[in-house]
Amino acid sequence: MPYELPSLPYAHDALEPAIDAQTMQIHHGKHHQAYVDNLNKALEGTEWDGKPIEQVLGVLDALPDDKQGPVRNNGGGHANHSLFWQIMKPGGGGDPSGALADAIAATFGDVGQLRAALNDGGVKRFGSGWTWLVWDGTGLAVYSTPNQDSPWLQDDVPLLGIDVWEHAYYLRYQNRRPDYLAAWWDVVNWDEVARRYDEARG
Ligand code: MN
Repeated sequence: MPYELPSLPYAHDALEPAIDAQTMQIHHGKHHQAYVDNLNKALEGTEWDGKPIEQVLGVLDALPDDKQGPVRNNGGGHANHSLFWQIMKPGGGGDPSGALADAIAATFGDVGQLRAALNDGGVKRFGSGWTWLVWDGTGLAVYSTPNQDSPWLQDDVPLLGIDVWEHAYYLRYQNRRPDYLAAWWDVVNWDEVARRYDEARG
């Protein structure tokens, strides 16, 4: 069973004005589709074909040498973008609540400091990549990754990730990545981040 592009859970223009409709159309319909297509090409006919991509990324070293690069990039791209669409929503923003809010306060001081740390990681990521909030098995952590490297590669559970590839923001923000990151928080879906946090802690 090959991998498939997941449907967007909202309309292309639903995240305006933070993210414009044309960016969403190209980002989801072209970029994410290309990661899915290339992942399918890489794993076609292997025992990993169609296995949950998070699991495959966790055992990347077990794949044949010539598959590791394509799966790291395109499997990472598929996993990262599948999360990205879910942790945004129209009318999002605000602050988290419940156990996630308590953990953020205990780890980072408050949600404002978490936002600042994530934005800083995104601004400082040279070239293309992601800035992440993860569950590392014992607590919350923030870091950034290059290219499409997924936290699953190092057995961390991604809870929230912001795409800082130019394809995520260039049409509206051009070179102003900090402005995109600042606006992104208007569409964060804290309910989904909290759901992933509860699931990760088990
Ligand atoms: Mn992207």
